[in-house]
Amino acid sequence: MLTNNQPMSKHCSFKAGGLAKYFFTPKNLDELVTFLQNNTKNILMLGLGSNLLVRDKGFNGVVIKLKFLNNITIKNNIVQAQSGVTLAKLARFCQQKNLNGSQFLSAIPGSVGGALAMNAGAFGSQIWSFVNSVTTINHKGLILERKVSDFDIGYRQVINKNKQEYFISGAFEFNKKPEYDPKNILKKRKETQPIGQASCGSVFKNPKNHHAAKLIEQSNLKGFCIGGACISNKHANFIINKNNATATDIEKLIIYIQQTVKSKFNIDLETELVIK
Ligand SMILES: Cc1cc2nc3c(=O)[nH]c(=O)nc-3n(C[C@H](O)[C@H](O)[C@H](O)COP(=O)(O)OP(=O)(O)OC[C@H]3O[C@@H](n4cnc5c(N)ncnc54)[C@H](O)[C@@H]3O)c2cc1C
Repeated sequence: MLTNNQPMSKHCSFKAGGLAKYFFTPKNLDELVTFLQNNTKNILMLGLGSNLLVRDKGFNGVVIKLKFLNNITIKNNIVQAQSGVTLAKLARFCQQKNLNGSQFLSAIPGSVGGALAMNAGAFGSQIWSFVNSVTTINHKGLILERKVSDFDIGYRQVINKNKQEYFISGAFEFNKKPEYDPKNILKKRKETQPIGQASCGSVFKNPKNHHAAKLIEQSNLKGFCIGGACISNKHANFIINKNNATATDIEKLIIYIQQTVKSKFNIDLETELVIK
């Protein structure tokens, strides 16, 4: 389905952001292929919007949400999950099949597509450590099989050596031994993070040998607000939308944090959050 002027605040966990000029939710892969074959608009792929902020001026192009590409299968212990599958569902599926190592995913409120794009991770694990191969689609609707070596994978960063391609599914091999008790994951998160409040999780990547949260806390910024956007008192690397924050409030607060940490510690904080 193609609609116009969708508020991205409805689709992003920050509950802020401007309008998407066009918003497309393909019913299936064929519909996505046909759409892309005829598309000339700028594309922004959307998962669950848990790491995305669209500026208040909006996105002048088409936002494509793959929520109906949500098939998940298993063959010879390889799990094939389409991009619209939530990470919670993937983790549950693996648990039912007695595959270990995917437990960390249940703590991340994203989709397979978003996690592949971000190399999402938690508790010392990251999704690309379990990728066998991925299927992508390019901006012209061509479906391609890609190997791990087709990507430069880093900490919360994935660069596709082939431009203008999007993830439509991943094949995963989860059979490693978990290094932690999966039952405690969500409990641990609730204790240390402002779960349930509008946020995007960690705003900044941890600089080498440092913790972004610690640097922000040591800059005495916990609780500091610009407009409706505030630095969480519970976890300093979380910005929360406390009082109808605009995307501009959030971005101004991000820049303020970066400037403060730079002047105090001479360290550059790089955003993990994607801003469009
Ligand atoms: C409370 C909270 C806790 C969090 N904890 C963690 C954590 O522990 N670890 C962690 O890594 N992250 C964490 N996050 C951030 C976020 O959940 C992850 O980055 C997640 O992988 C994003 O997935 P998504 O589907 O929401 O992606 P989106 O936010 O929708 O998109 C993120 C980026 O991926 C791109 N993208 C989305 N789908 C595709 C696709 N199919 N093909 C190509 N590009 C695509 C988007 O264009 C955008 O650039 C947290 C967020 C919140 C709100």
